[in-house]
Amino acid sequence: MALLKFSRVGLALAGLVIGSGFCFSLPSFAASALAAWAIRSDGVLELRTTAGARLNAFFQVAGGGKGDRIWIDFPGELSRPRVISGNGPVKEVRLGKPFNGFTRLVVEFQPYISLDPGKMELIGKSPNRWELDFIDFPSQKFLKIGEGEVKKKYRKPSSLFGYRGKTSSYIKLSNLPSVPRGIYRIVIDPGHGGPDPGAVGIGGLRETDVVLDVSLQVAEFLKGKGVNVLLTRKNEIDLDLPPRVAKANNYRAHAFISIHANATQGKRRDINGLETYYYSGFRGLDLAKNIHKEIIKVSFGTPDRGVRRSRFFVIRRTDMPAALVEIGFVTGRIDSRKLRQQSHRKKLAFGIAKGILNYLKGAG
Ligand SMILES: [Zn+2]
Repeated sequence: MALLKFSRVGLALAGLVIGSGFCFSLPSFAASALAAWAIRSDGVLELRTTAGARLNAFFQVAGGGKGDRIWIDFPGELSRPRVISGNGPVKEVRLGKPFNGFTRLVVEFQPYISLDPGKMELIGKSPNRWELDFIDFPSQKFLKIGEGEVKKKYRKPSSLFGYRGKTSSYIKLSNLPSVPRGIYRIVIDPGHGGPDPGAVGIGGLRETDVVLDVSLQVAEFLKGKGVNVLLTRKNEIDLDLPPRVAKANNYRAHAFISIHANATQGKRRDINGLETYYYSGFRGLDLAKNIHKEIIKVSFGTPDRGVRRSRFFVIRRTDMPAALVEIGFVTGRIDSRKLRQQSHRKKLAFGIAKGILNYLKGAG
């Protein structure tokens, strides 16, 4: 069996990209790095991938009833293995999962085609685009085949997700909107606590730890802006729901924000995202919308599960506009990794504080 690796000029480019400070090592369980592909009518295979993805290309001569074929392996799995019929010299293109964590694109040629693997190169044209010229592709009528948009431009990811062009130094007090000092009273309610850890996710990541950390930081941001803040808990204590509500009502808060992290039953790792809940009234909805908008901005890659209405006790029984924020799934593979990071928690706290301040400004 002649199994040859192409020379991979493209890897040099990938190396450059990694050197410039991005990190593209994809975990084996990620979605496929293959985003789009096409075989042009002049016989050039074009690929668009995740930026900096590491590819492996192979060639096999005809045999066993099959024509010459090349295949390229990409990190990450595709959701739907499929076969696309070719035309002219291309018999068919197959997309499959050769083994866990990888996607394989196979181009099989008609038996009368004979490729020269020594001449073929898979060349990286930009961090997310590749080309492979089937040198001796017969110039005959051939219709381009492909899936997706290969030409889509590569956008350099900003280091502070959601704030294009700005760095993480953006996450600071002076970049939060101002409200009149000493006027507003806000209650921040870190969910669970003490013997109740809340949801426990991947690697033992506990909801109580994450939400307390984020809540304390939200309180600091708000205090820095001259807002009076009452935390329903400041450490790992056991606290029922009714006393949380009573604290907020006694304090005559202008708004109540409960902070939680989500979990799925059965710990489904594929479910990730942000949700913000309100119970009733225009102001509750306005508060929830303002917060949600800001946490989405700081959570690049996390699905937006929307602002929703629910009857959670703490937002139903509080007298003032109230929202409950779910800052991600401790059971989700995207969210849990982020929620573990101090830098991400800080961004979330900044986003929640910004949403609250915007709400206060609007509410007048
Ligand atoms: Zn919770």
